[in-house]
Amino acid sequence: MSSSVIRTLGLKKYFSGQTKALDGVDLDVRAGEFIAVMGASGSGKSTLLHLIAGLTRPTSGEVLIEGHDPAGMSDNALTRFRRRRIGLVFQRFNLIPHLTALENIMIPLLAEGKNRKNAIKRASELAGTLGITGQLDQFPDTLSGGEQQRVTLARALSLDPAILLADEPTGNLDSLSSQRICEILDRLCRDEKRIILLVTHEPSVAVWSKRLLILKDGRLIADRPTSDFQDAHHLAAAYQQAVEDRSDKKERKCAE
Ligand code: ADP
Repeated sequence: MSSSVIRTLGLKKYFSGQTKALDGVDLDVRAGEFIAVMGASGSGKSTLLHLIAGLTRPTSGEVLIEGHDPAGMSDNALTRFRRRRIGLVFQRFNLIPHLTALENIMIPLLAEGKNRKNAIKRASELAGTLGITGQLDQFPDTLSGGEQQRVTLARALSLDPAILLADEPTGNLDSLSSQRICEILDRLCRDEKRIILLVTHEPSVAVWSKRLLILKDGRLIADRPTSDFQDAHHLAAAYQQAVEDRSDKKERKCAE
């Protein structure tokens, strides 16, 4: 078995000493895993992604990415490490409006010191993979939501990261564009052995993953192979049940 690429140990993040956004999460992720993270709003999903990306530091516990602890790096080292090893895709596309799609995809490449010619070559290759070659000269506000998200994805993949963290990447998309993004993510895992950690509240998106994590009140309450579920309806029902079971147990414990 290959070793973990992402490992979290007793990971906690408390805000203002009161809010337990994440309350002790242990997780091991291996190369090529496609993982969906589900949970109610406020259950700690984004916090988990932010901690893995080193965008925020844990209150206690540890994150190890390929054996490195982002919390122990200087800001400069962390920025470089993140740029090279971790691609980030969020619900809001965060594209720069006055740059074309091509120029947006090229940003990390130029920031890493690649020359313009090589950056254009790499950006064009990615645009081909993601099916947006015809849109490269357009500005973001002339693109559909699905196209904008594919530009964001191309930008996140430009430096060939081992890990792609996606926070509700299909949240603003119609169901067809959403499924198209899922197909691309699936391919990135299968063919390129990238890790995808995808936060979503949509069972029709989560069902594309191979492993389902459910968070509740900052704790991991389920970690199951997605093959346990026949389809998105079945996954949605199992998700509801996991969340409710946990509430029942908590209530019973309080009553005892
Ligand atoms: P989710 O992504 O599952 O909706 P989050 O990880 O965003 O949940 O948030 C988990 C909890 O932590 C919530 O109660 C949220 O209000 C709180 N939280 C998140 N970020 C901050 C912050 N920067 N300051 C204070 N509280 C925060």
